[in-house]
Amino acid sequence: MFHRFQVGAMNATIVSDGPLVLPAAPRIFRGPDAAAINGALEAAGLDTNHVRVEQNCLLLETGGRKILFDNGLGSEKLYGPDSGKLMTGLAEADIDPSSIDALVLTHAHSDHCWGTMADDGTPNFPNATVYLAQAELEFWESNPPNERLERSIAGVRKHLLPLRDRIQFVRDGEEFLPGVQGWLTPGHTPGHMAYLFAGNWCLTGDVAFHDPLSYAFPESLSAFDGDREQGAETRQRLLARLADERIAVIGYHHPWPGLGRVERFGGSFRFIAG
Ligand SMILES: [Zn+2]
Repeated sequence: MFHRFQVGAMNATIVSDGPLVLPAAPRIFRGPDAAAINGALEAAGLDTNHVRVEQNCLLLETGGRKILFDNGLGSEKLYGPDSGKLMTGLAEADIDPSSIDALVLTHAHSDHCWGTMADDGTPNFPNATVYLAQAELEFWESNPPNERLERSIAGVRKHLLPLRDRIQFVRDGEEFLPGVQGWLTPGHTPGHMAYLFAGNWCLTGDVAFHDPLSYAFPESLSAFDGDREQGAETRQRLLARLADERIAVIGYHHPWPGLGRVERFGGSFRFIAG
């Protein structure tokens, strides 16, 4: 499944890696009571038994280069049977994986970088330079002593370390590819990067991963954030900037295809798809 659109002079395509099924929202969003969370889900017409999110991978063509942002779960089925569709989607969109010059990662969790290597240990994007924040790679390379992180550490060993000599680090605020700028947004992971491009677009990664809950309860602590307090602080800072500067948003886990914008609403925010 793919969706093409234009971002100024850039050709853009969202390619789906398929949906993920996560636990019920009150187990993820800590702070607001379950009734408030489920009320927001019901108002949006969403299931309260499970959180179901998309994986919207962005491909940008700019300055003669093809840039893919994040690449889904690969063949692992950690969150339901329907993920792992990126390569099929690229074929449907007539995009040759070997034509992709840059693989840009928001962070190194399974659902963002486990499509880097094929099952036979060869890279899915054989000609791509890999970009991410130095703090991100160094965190996972340092083998943080925490059982909860073991799966992600193993994933980094399998998907990123074999490509160590073609990894380039993105610095906060740096335009590292034509029209594409990194925005260090730590909390979800230590080196999480959002990406600004074409002047007024932002790929937000997992800073605010859920529409509507990340917007309605930006101060809530997310069970998915490595540093929950920092995650909440970063989320509120990012959403305020996106709303106040009217920056268009691509939400990786938002309802397909993830395009929209952020508004201030009541004391918090809301995501307006479209
Ligand atoms: Zn994610």
